[in-house]
Amino acid sequence: MMNPIQMVDLKSQYLRIKPEVDAAIQHVLDSTAFIQGSPVREFEEQLAQYTKSKYVVSCGNGTDALMVSLMALGIGPEDEVITVPFTFVASAEAIALLGAKPVFVDVCEETFTMDASLLEAAITPKTKAIIPVHLYGQCADMEPILDIAKKHNIKVIEDACQAIGTPYTFSNGTTKQAGALGDVGCLSFFPSKNLGCYGDGGAMVTDDETLAERMRAICRHGSKVKYHHDYVGVNSRLDTLQAAILQVKLQHLDEYITKRRAAADYYFEALKEVDWLQLPEIITNTHHTFHQFTIRVKNGKRDSLRQYLSEKGIPTMIYYPVTVHLQPVYRSLGYQEGDFTVSEHLCKEVLSLPMHTELADDQLQYICETIVNCPL
Ligand SMILES: *Cc1c(COP(=O)(O)O)cnc(C)c1O
Repeated sequence: MMNPIQMVDLKSQYLRIKPEVDAAIQHVLDSTAFIQGSPVREFEEQLAQYTKSKYVVSCGNGTDALMVSLMALGIGPEDEVITVPFTFVASAEAIALLGAKPVFVDVCEETFTMDASLLEAAITPKTKAIIPVHLYGQCADMEPILDIAKKHNIKVIEDACQAIGTPYTFSNGTTKQAGALGDVGCLSFFPSKNLGCYGDGGAMVTDDETLAERMRAICRHGSKVKYHHDYVGVNSRLDTLQAAILQVKLQHLDEYITKRRAAADYYFEALKEVDWLQLPEIITNTHHTFHQFTIRVKNGKRDSLRQYLSEKGIPTMIYYPVTVHLQPVYRSLGYQEGDFTVSEHLCKEVLSLPMHTELADDQLQYICETIVNCPL
């Protein structure tokens, strides 16, 4: 009998590594070093190795990673930061929280990531940083983005919350990891992310020592030496328990990515003939890690397909139903419908299919057969 299909199956994933995880948790309980215990530094070092970057500063969550990166770069009121409107709200929220202005550029229709050809027109003398988002596990096309940023002396903060482990290859043949491409990379360990902990968690990745020190200090109330404060900071830490769980799960990350890619390959093969669907397009210089497998449903059939699949026991999600520039909270920025037509259009067509490390072949077969035979 086929197991019920879930959008994400954290329970089965946990059961596969239960002895390792339980032992790591017990070890922390025995030590009672719940804040900044040794697993935190150890995990940071292991993650630096994994991402092939010099410094990793862990923090409370991915949103804090974005905010603290901006703080460490000195961004505040009067500054502008460019990002995309087709993303999770946190990418823009971090900018707004600091009193800076989120400025949007549209995404590419095929890849759902920042359209670098639109970037230069959005740059003003106030632009201090660019936050490209590696949406669904695929890197934005970073080479042109980094070139433009360099030309204008602007910092690049990658929102790599959905893309840990995604490689990106530059035209000179160098390959780097998502998060290690720009000045700072932000990661989230929210449970459903490709490397998820069992609560909230996040990290910033950089090769810049000064920036790393500053980000670390900001996460600890702006303090490098306890009770001596150099900056206005925040309290944002990765719990020792979460770090210990992440140490275990990081060792399985490559295997998790392989499983996601295998599920994606199944979808690509089984759905390629469906002419009212558009499958995700992969840019050749990045190797997608499929945080989401997001299709586009043509001819206005998205919502009816979603309803039909739901009736057949197949959950799906819409990431994201409304662009950030049209959210009520950002109305004061003065954007309106029609300003970012690609993003707005994608919101009406995208549908994310079940995607996780535990999808069985009979489940994938059932999902694909149900879509192919759907009477819409
Ligand atoms: C998950 C996510 C975040 C925020 O991460 P949290 O850990 O939930 O704060 C930011 N940006 C994107 C694109 C994300 O997917």
